Amino acid sequence: MCSAFVGFLIERFLRDMKTAIITGASRGIGRAEAERLARDGFSVCINCVERMDLAEELSAKLNAEGFRAMAYRADVSVKSEVDAMVEAVRAKFGPVDVLVNNAGIAEQCQIQDIRDELWDRIFAVNVKGILHTVQAVLPDMLHRKSGCIINTSSIWGMHGASCESVYASSKHAVIGLTKSMAAELALSGIRVNCVAPGVIDTDMVKVLGDETLKELADDTPLGRLGRPEDIAAAVSYLASDGAAFVTGQVLTCDGGFIHL
Ligand code: NAD
Repeated sequence: MCSAFVGFLIERFLRDMKTAIITGASRGIGRAEAERLARDGFSVCINCVERMDLAEELSAKLNAEGFRAMAYRADVSVKSEVDAMVEAVRAKFGPVDVLVNNAGIAEQCQIQDIRDELWDRIFAVNVKGILHTVQAVLPDMLHRKSGCIINTSSIWGMHGASCESVYASSKHAVIGLTKSMAAELALSGIRVNCVAPGVIDTDMVKVLGDETLKELADDTPLGRLGRPEDIAAAVSYLASDGAAFVTGQVLTCDGGFIHL
């Protein structure tokens, strides 16, 4: 009797936990976001397209610490894989409350060298990937009249960047998509915002080389590169009840890089 009651309470507690999906979360910014949201009390799905071993390792670590996590491989640019992921998350944790679209790719290229394949690949992940995940979680959010979507732009989504035309264009598109979705979904109780990271110390920027990264750190008013945890803190805020009246916004986290 007593253990049945405890079981009932545990089941009730788990059902009341909120669920978050973080795309591209095996490493870098997404990994820090997944860890942060788990510690904030969300059941988290750690999405990845490669290095499933890293996603599973993070999931195991969080579960061992008493949080709730699962790892799931899905390419956000493939709609059927995204739909299957959201279905698996719904089955394990319940409907998705918070969707963090973090997955992204970048490649430097001069304008005259941009090929259709590069353009299509970057837009398929950085922009269409968001459409896929949003369309997959939206029916539940609309039904429940609540939800929170956080996209990932970049400071290069607000300013042009030499040799980054494709990436910068895709990140400008993320801001357009964020604001349009925020306008369309506000009456349904769904908030849509995005973060715009500055230069964050992850694998993505390692291609720039140590010297350039040092120059970028020196050019940053706060005197350092960003850390994945800096962006995770911004996402944690946007996902929280403290941001209940915030939608359609671009939260720049760049140590003052573009505005000061
Ligand atoms: P990263 O390369 O370390 O991580 C990107 C993650 O996305 C990886 O885990 C990768 O496997 C995953 N991913 C790539 N394609 C995917 C796909 N098709 N489906 C699912 N996952 C996929 O980079 P990061 O620095 O952690 O970047 C995270 C996000 O932040 C990206 O959207 C990036 O554009 C953005 N951003 C990064 C910086 C920076 O300086 N690092 C600055 C501004 C914006």
